[in-house]
Amino acid sequence: MENIEKLIARDPGGRGAAALQVPGDLSRGAQAIAKAQRILIATGFPVGPNGVAETDGPPGALFLGRALAQLGKEVTFATHQGCAVVMAAGIVALDLHARLDRLALGEPPTALLDRVAPDLVIAIELPGRSADGNYYNMRGLSITAKVDPLDGLLIAAAERGLPTVAVGDGGNEAGMGKVRAQVQGAVNGGEKIASVVAADHLIAAGISNWGAYGLVAALDYRLLQRPEEETALLEALVAAGALDGVRLQPTLSVDGLDLEAYLALLVELQQAASSSTGQATA
Ligand code: ZN
Ligand code: ZN
Repeated sequence: MENIEKLIARDPGGRGAAALQVPGDLSRGAQAIAKAQRILIATGFPVGPNGVAETDGPPGALFLGRALAQLGKEVTFATHQGCAVVMAAGIVALDLHARLDRLALGEPPTALLDRVAPDLVIAIELPGRSADGNYYNMRGLSITAKVDPLDGLLIAAAERGLPTVAVGDGGNEAGMGKVRAQVQGAVNGGEKIASVVAADHLIAAGISNWGAYGLVAALDYRLLQRPEEETALLEALVAAGALDGVRLQPTLSVDGLDLEAYLALLVELQQAASSSTGQATA
């Protein structure tokens, strides 16, 4: 399990992911997921002038969701208004039997939680509010106007005693409240952008998709997607309007990292997980 943690902490953007890792949370998060039956996965970090989805977040949510469905679990996705087209395209591309939900204008996160009635909530690359109540991107710019308060799902779940798992890569995501002091110390502009929203189990990764794949590997590495499946999904998401969140371009890249280097980790993850015994479901 430690070699999976080490792999997903690879930090091509130099954003300090390793300093945000909570040792053991990957394994504990996978164990909590293995026990759950009805799972809500919220994702989407609005980027660009129209607040569309980026190529980090949805692939992680979709492939984790597929793995959970293969384990017999019921999966519902939630995302922002501006990211819904991309997520819907991803669900079709992977032929998932999963619902896509979102908050209606002014609707509180508790209403979505009532509707889905999950027994566990996962947030993947989802903006998390900062101490001043605004949502910031990695450049320290406010994106509050483009964000639906889906991070409130983690807050509402905690209030109801439901377990929560979060994946992030920059400190400004929902869940990072668990390591807020480390975000403020290790991340550029961390003082301002650090999210105050915590999760029970926090998976910090160099790229959030990798963190989600780390969870799949910890659950059952045989459920990891093949690199060509990932390429095909990225093509479908970009065709539906997704942008690389760093380049702000519709390219087959993630967080500014070219496809080849991005996919290399997937292969390494498969090798590391297959050679180690760790399986949360065992
Ligand atoms: Zn991020
Ligand atoms: Zn990212």
